Amino acid sequence: MVAASQTLHDAIDEILPGLVADRRHLHEHPELGMQEYETARFVAGRLQQLGLEDIRTGIANTGVTALIRGTGTGPNADRTLMLRADMDALPITEENEVEYRSQTPGVMHACGHDAHTSMLLATARLLMERRAEFAGTVKVLFQPAEEAQPGGAKPMIEAGVLEDPRVDASFGLHMAQDLELGRITARPGASSANSDRFYITVQGKGGHGAAPHTTIDPIVVASQIVLAIQTLVSRETDPLGSAVVTVGAFNAGSAPNVIPDTAELVGSMRTFDTDFRDHLAERLDTLVTKIATAMGATGTLRFVRGYPSVVNDEGMFEIVRAAASEVVGPDNFVIKPASMGGEDMSYFLQQVPGCFFHVGSKNAGRGLVWGHHHPKFDIDEASLGIGVEVMVTSVLRYFATENPPVRA
Ligand SMILES: [Zn+2]
Ligand SMILES: [Zn+2]
Repeated sequence: MVAASQTLHDAIDEILPGLVADRRHLHEHPELGMQEYETARFVAGRLQQLGLEDIRTGIANTGVTALIRGTGTGPNADRTLMLRADMDALPITEENEVEYRSQTPGVMHACGHDAHTSMLLATARLLMERRAEFAGTVKVLFQPAEEAQPGGAKPMIEAGVLEDPRVDASFGLHMAQDLELGRITARPGASSANSDRFYITVQGKGGHGAAPHTTIDPIVVASQIVLAIQTLVSRETDPLGSAVVTVGAFNAGSAPNVIPDTAELVGSMRTFDTDFRDHLAERLDTLVTKIATAMGATGTLRFVRGYPSVVNDEGMFEIVRAAASEVVGPDNFVIKPASMGGEDMSYFLQQVPGCFFHVGSKNAGRGLVWGHHHPKFDIDEASLGIGVEVMVTSVLRYFATENPPVRA
């Protein structure tokens, strides 16, 4: 076991310059969501060079999948494990003065998806070289548009990427600029929030400020709604659970002596539990429509669902924990608090058991401290090799596990 992991470690050291070169090439040529044409071409070309089977392109616009079939022996020869990376960049102008800076004005890989894509290519290469060490099939998946709703994961699922062959389980990773280089983090269960938005319109009846009895004042009605919404968290949420409902904008009227026709509220709702999310959305609708009706106005709610919560499977989490402990040492594997951020890997994890983990890429000593989506975002590239080693080790552990987690 030790000898084998040393071999993997040495192999990664050997391919690291190529991995860094791929990451830098992608970094120099960022593409926005659903426009990752050159990135997808680059990915498909590499997969072809590596000899992967069944390379499919143009899925949900620019998505790519391919297969690696293990030739070894093991208990999961008929299982398929999917590894996912995202390929899109952001509409940000890069402020780094590095030689590999973005060459596309106004577009930048400021979240690390260039790293994710190059790391999955390196993972594919190492797994191809180690086909004899496992029995089972690995499906690599490169998706478009993680950053912008509705995202690329959902349309790829609708296009059938979880079938043919049927995917049993999945792993994915993300760089983490709030975590030091050399550390890995994940958590079992809900790891990120359901992140939704809502838009409320209260239709009243405008008129003169001196004759309120001839009007239906939408500002007063909307104010009642704002106050009632506060009870969703304070009176209807389990004190040990968690939810946030925030009204972030209240727009109505424009003059001191005029009662306007309408008032509009805009807000956000974040929850971890899916059933509770549905419950709160329904209660919000009831409060808006009934309070407005009771006061003679009309209230309408438009509830826009964002990405669902990332929920890691316990068994898949344990495989990643064991792999990460082997690669970076148990002290460098940390269970992070759940985050309120969104991530569309969640759509895959709703269908198949999986684990989405984070790879520390921050290095304060080298000034690599800027967070995701910042124009000075950059990672310590030593994290590329670490993440790949954890991913390959997790894959080999999955296929070696008796009765690993599989899709129902
Ligand atoms: Zn991002
Ligand atoms: Zn991201």
